Amino acid sequence: MKICLSIGYPIKTSRSSSIHNAGYKKLRIADEFIYLRAEVKPKDLKDAIAGVKAFGIRGVSVTMPHKQTVMKYLDKIDKDAKKIGAVNTIVNDNGRLAGFNTDWIGALTALKKRTNLKEKQVAVIGAGGAARAIVYGLRRKGALVKIFNRSLKKAKELAKEFKSQFSSLDSLEELAKMDIIINATSVGMNEDQSLVDKKFLNKNQIIFDVVYSPKETLLIKNALKIGAKVVYGYEMLLYQGIAQFELYTGMKAPIETMRKALESYEN
Ligand code: NAP
Repeated sequence: MKICLSIGYPIKTSRSSSIHNAGYKKLRIADEFIYLRAEVKPKDLKDAIAGVKAFGIRGVSVTMPHKQTVMKYLDKIDKDAKKIGAVNTIVNDNGRLAGFNTDWIGALTALKKRTNLKEKQVAVIGAGGAARAIVYGLRRKGALVKIFNRSLKKAKELAKEFKSQFSSLDSLEELAKMDIIINATSVGMNEDQSLVDKKFLNKNQIIFDVVYSPKETLLIKNALKIGAKVVYGYEMLLYQGIAQFELYTGMKAPIETMRKALESYEN
């Protein structure tokens, strides 16, 4: 049996288990692969990764707060993950652990279904892990990025690294002239809040919220009301999971089956 695992702390929900296990079932490999989740405290991370080798766990999906710290326990880091500075996926090939980042692939796949990114003016709100992966992907595709963050220091550092502009949250009125607005903060997660006033939105924009719970955040609801195109956080989650699935199994993922499993997921 090949075991794949989500690790994080805390880790309360099992969206990833639902979508990966649905995929195994569809491809008739559910007697070969199983996907589980495990809560791993930061102090236990080193031992947990040693356990991945000892038990021959095939793949690990890494969530907060381990995405950066896990890197030092791996044998190899892929070049995109190195540039982003975070790993969300570990593949175990005969005891050698390789780290990847599929968050940027998830975000970019979802966005590219709505628009071309070259020379688009994109506002990214946030400068944490999700923002880093997204800014990396946007710059690779030639988008022009401005980062807005509560901590100006973090915005400045991220902007310098990926040749972007930056500002504090005090200049969000600039969002009105952007082609694409991305909320890459946790604001809106299980709460009816948004950092973006609806007066800065217009129907020609694409509005993307990385927050996936609830599916329709306040930002997405406001964008839909004015007729803007939206990208849901669950789409990023789906496509990053699809990239993981293909790394773990070496097979083409059954996207529609996995999408349905995610859409029907209830907390
Ligand atoms: P993180 O590294 O902790 O970064 C959090 C970011 O949110 C920082 O920029 C932080 O600003 C900002 N922030 C938090 N609370 C704020 C507030 N009250 N007001 C203004 N800014 C605030 O977290 P992360 O890993 O980037 O995750 C961010 C969100 O993305 C989470 O909700 C996570 O679930 C989601 N996510 C979704 C996917 C997906 O596939 N859809 C993938 C990854 C993450 P400061 O720098 O000023 O603290």
